[in-house]
Amino acid sequence: MRFDPLIRNGTVVTATDPFAADLGINDGKISAIAAQLPIENAGRVIDAAGRLVMPGGIDVHTHLDMPFGGTTSADDFETGTIAAAFGGTTTLIDFAIQYKGQTLRQAFDTWMKKAHDKAVTDYAFHCIITDLGAAQLEEMGQLIREGVTSFKLFMAYPGVFMLDDASIFRAMSQAAKHAGLICMHAENGGAIDVIVQKALAEGKRAPKYHALTRPTTAEAEATSRAIALAEMAGAPVYIVHLSCNDALEKVREARDPGLPVYPEPCPQYLYLSLDNFDVPGFEGAKYVFTPPLREKWHQEKLWQGLALDTLQVVSTDHCPFCFKEQKELGKDDFTKIPNGGPGIEHRLSLIYTGGVHAKRFSANRFVELVSTTPAKLFGLYPRKGTIAVGSDADLVIFDPNETQVISAKTHHMRVDYSMFEGIQITGVPKTVLSRGLAVIDSGKFVGRPGAGQFVRRQSYSRV
Ligand SMILES: [Zn+2]
Repeated sequence: MRFDPLIRNGTVVTATDPFAADLGINDGKISAIAAQLPIENAGRVIDAAGRLVMPGGIDVHTHLDMPFGGTTSADDFETGTIAAAFGGTTTLIDFAIQYKGQTLRQAFDTWMKKAHDKAVTDYAFHCIITDLGAAQLEEMGQLIREGVTSFKLFMAYPGVFMLDDASIFRAMSQAAKHAGLICMHAENGGAIDVIVQKALAEGKRAPKYHALTRPTTAEAEATSRAIALAEMAGAPVYIVHLSCNDALEKVREARDPGLPVYPEPCPQYLYLSLDNFDVPGFEGAKYVFTPPLREKWHQEKLWQGLALDTLQVVSTDHCPFCFKEQKELGKDDFTKIPNGGPGIEHRLSLIYTGGVHAKRFSANRFVELVSTTPAKLFGLYPRKGTIAVGSDADLVIFDPNETQVISAKTHHMRVDYSMFEGIQITGVPKTVLSRGLAVIDSGKFVGRPGAGQFVRRQSYSRV
């Protein structure tokens, strides 16, 4: 068999093992793993000596080309997947939003069009449900059969995205019936809105009040309610962007007796805190996203949660808005600041730095958090999320020793600031392959818009 490319001399790292091996790739898939593979017949040979060879990152929470708050997130499927690839992420699961009065099919078709000619790496979709009648309940089963096997619901943003408990319970019951997975934005939106109105009435309009009007208790209460509704429906539940210890405690209580509850934190909650709002003027708007940043002590609790498997996945909730003209829409009123932050590019390096380099967990656990578990939960495994014969050759050749300082001056996201400006990372993706083809080669983009494919996902199976 002819290998093209052939990756030699690297240390392969999966969720379970590190081992020295060559990888032979044929027709976009891994076709041989051995101590040494013959190079005579090979096409391109990539020398990975001194580097880690890992399955491509899977980011299950991104918002590319998304309308929100009177504007649209700054990265589309081209710039977003390019930035993701620079950071070692080779598959995204983005969100197709069903607006009120629409079918779920309309949402799916709209987002498929946004991605089709633009994505440089593979992608899939969850469907956000904001209006759940009998027809949409029926559609859930149809979408699952077509590879859209997870749905996101909101307990926040009343009047825009929020569903009532009865609708959430119906959706969970339907997901249980068809082996779908519900992803939950868990914050008590009703209570938060009352607190927000009070703050505005008191003239509190600066960006930091976005954070100060969304208490950790509101997240913990909704997390607990989501878990209870899922338990009653006999459904698993995935808690998106878990930000604080209060919610983590609710998850721990549920996971101890074995309930299938899967929470994801994001790098911003592991690296940033309320202290980031101590900046002049309107600059705090750079850190306005939901749930908000918390007091600094929560960070170490979340890192512990990752190490101890209370938290299973790290995603980014990438939802970039430029500071100029976009964030500035809320200059006089924090409720008008588009919610979201840019993070798609640095997830792997930030989690490697704080996790493996800082000796909180192993490189295997790192791979599990950023690739393998997301693949398993969301029906991409073993096609993606591991290094095995027959898996897609979505691979990251990673230099575990190189250091870089994150900056908007050098990043590839189409946004004019970085949430992580000035933070030093150790561990950098050098060459990134999508189905065997280089997308990033020695730190340069060599991919092609439109090369990414929609991935039909399998239904949920318990991890
Ligand atoms: Zn989100």
